Amino acid sequence: MKSDRDNPFRIAQEQFDRAAALLALPDNVREVLRVPQRELTVRFPVAMDDGSTRMFTGYRVQHNLGRGPTKGGLRYHPSVDIDEVRALAMWMTWKCALVNIPYGGAKGGVVCDPAQLSLQELERLTRRFATEVGIVVGSERDIPAPDVNTNAQIMAWFMDTLSMQQGHTINAVVTGKPVEVGGSLGRNEATGRGVSLMVREWARRHGRRLDQLNVVVQGFGNVGGVAAALLAELGCRVIGVGDASGGYVCRDGLDIAGMRRYAAHHPRRLLAGYSAPGVERIAGDALLETPCDVLVPAAMENQITDRNAARIRAALIVEGANGPTTPLADAILDERGIAVVPDILANAGGVTVSYFEWVQGLQSFFWNEHDVNARLEHIMVDAFNQVCDLAEQRRISLRLAAYLLAVRRVADANIIRGLYP
Ligand code: GLU
Repeated sequence: MKSDRDNPFRIAQEQFDRAAALLALPDNVREVLRVPQRELTVRFPVAMDDGSTRMFTGYRVQHNLGRGPTKGGLRYHPSVDIDEVRALAMWMTWKCALVNIPYGGAKGGVVCDPAQLSLQELERLTRRFATEVGIVVGSERDIPAPDVNTNAQIMAWFMDTLSMQQGHTINAVVTGKPVEVGGSLGRNEATGRGVSLMVREWARRHGRRLDQLNVVVQGFGNVGGVAAALLAELGCRVIGVGDASGGYVCRDGLDIAGMRRYAAHHPRRLLAGYSAPGVERIAGDALLETPCDVLVPAAMENQITDRNAARIRAALIVEGANGPTTPLADAILDERGIAVVPDILANAGGVTVSYFEWVQGLQSFFWNEHDVNARLEHIMVDAFNQVCDLAEQRRISLRLAAYLLAVRRVADANIIRGLYP
């Protein structure tokens, strides 16, 4: 059980309350936006390979439907619980509003450890979960996507299940699908690409040269691995990366391309057992405290807390993960002059290209990778500049500036639509 101060939903509400107070939102709007609109809990059986049947619990939470259909990923993880899903759904609402794509926020998850499931069990679990949450999901209602421990194959099973039940292919019902079945070029790399653009734009704004930035990345999956690779391509020196197997540090810079190849061919796509000349192994916790210019937490929530924030030695933190920094840590980092590009901006590249995938699927008209990346860059750079301009103007943190912009847009949509009935 998470303690109250590590409870992601309490944290999400606290972040919202600060913005709502500064925006002087009317109480009735505040009360609507600080809680999820819809929550579905499902409990379902899955046939296991050994002939037994096991019960699983899953969730789909739709935080706010004001700006359009709801959007957000599906997470398969043992620590999934209703408060985590609520927080992640609320953060999706602000994220979509900040990059101005016409969605509300949602999130889903199944309490499970995919490392303990065979591929067949994972498929049966996904198909049954899709069926259970199918009552609230749909291409014009709520559109899932990958998140922690879910991927394009899982999205393909999800889409196939709902399509088979309807008797025709509905590929816009999920995003992050394989390109063979209506996925978008560039979707896989989109979140990491967005993260790398944030570093590039921050360096541009602060007159820093990319080839003089030392970068540390926590998480080496679809977000951290891609961000590390793209930052290395931009000329940064990636001196530390880590995953569930621990941290790997080399002051002269790691061979990120080689490490990604290694992870791709090893169990659970982990770096366990990786070694190379000059590479030192360190504990996962120590990785975050490695002196660097740019720190990218791209794993899970609550990684930078009041327990380690005073020991972070970076000039910039770019949140690839959702909710990696607690409010207490935020205050410490702010005091110490460490800038934080908040999750709802830094990792919005994923949902932005999900939006492109959904638009392409609905129109059955597909774009080339150059167009996808160019549109992504335009949206991310624009949102980054809006957030930085407001933060400078009001002398507030980037997180608070991002919240002011996003919450204002969501509140306005809800106010303009009015109260039904
Ligand atoms: N799971 C990703 C996120 O947290 C992507 C969501 C999506 O593409 O809908 O932003």
